[in-house]
Amino acid sequence: MKEVICAYCGKDTYNVDIEYLIGGNHLSCVLMDQLSDAIEKEKKMNKKKPVEISNWSKLVGNKFDVMGASFTIRDAHTDSLDEGNVYAAWVHATDDNEPFVRVTLFADNMDMQVKVVPPLDYNGNMTPYDLSSTITKHHISNPSIFIQTIAEALLSDSTTRDLLLYVSRKQDNIRFKGRGYSNPTGISGSNGFGGNNLW
Ligand SMILES: [Zn+2]
Repeated sequence: MKEVICAYCGKDTYNVDIEYLIGGNHLSCVLMDQLSDAIEKEKKMNKKKPVEISNWSKLVGNKFDVMGASFTIRDAHTDSLDEGNVYAAWVHATDDNEPFVRVTLFADNMDMQVKVVPPLDYNGNMTPYDLSSTITKHHISNPSIFIQTIAEALLSDSTTRDLLLYVSRKQDNIRFKGRGYSNPTGISGSNGFGGNNLW
């Protein structure tokens, strides 16, 4: 007995009417295969591309004030994952070697995680905690807006507002001993890039 095998389903097509075949394969199997290829291709095209922030490292050196407390971004780095890059930055209270917050931005879903590290002299028993929010492309359109986004995340939480006041008072004590620096209130961002877009 003669045998012809469909390459897609492995069944014998020798007795199948030629109208339902392409070569020795079932017409239906060939069409289903083409359809699933097309669907796969479409899925890939619809998958939104994670945001890329090529100049994330330029955040380093930016200074900003929240509730009178002064901060400096000291470190920023990028981890590349299949799901999209993960961006991290360390924000220090100015002149403090311990970070005050670590900001992590997950590019695949635009989740921003702000991990607050309470200063040891505020309360040694307090452990770091996370403030999370989902941001949009707008929030990373330039460093000033992104820094403002970090500041707003800090201000949105009452525990963190207490910490900000604590940092502010600590910095005031140093300022009054020193140069008599006037204490700014609210949020003000400054960066050394003349308002250029970073990304
Ligand atoms: Zn078949």
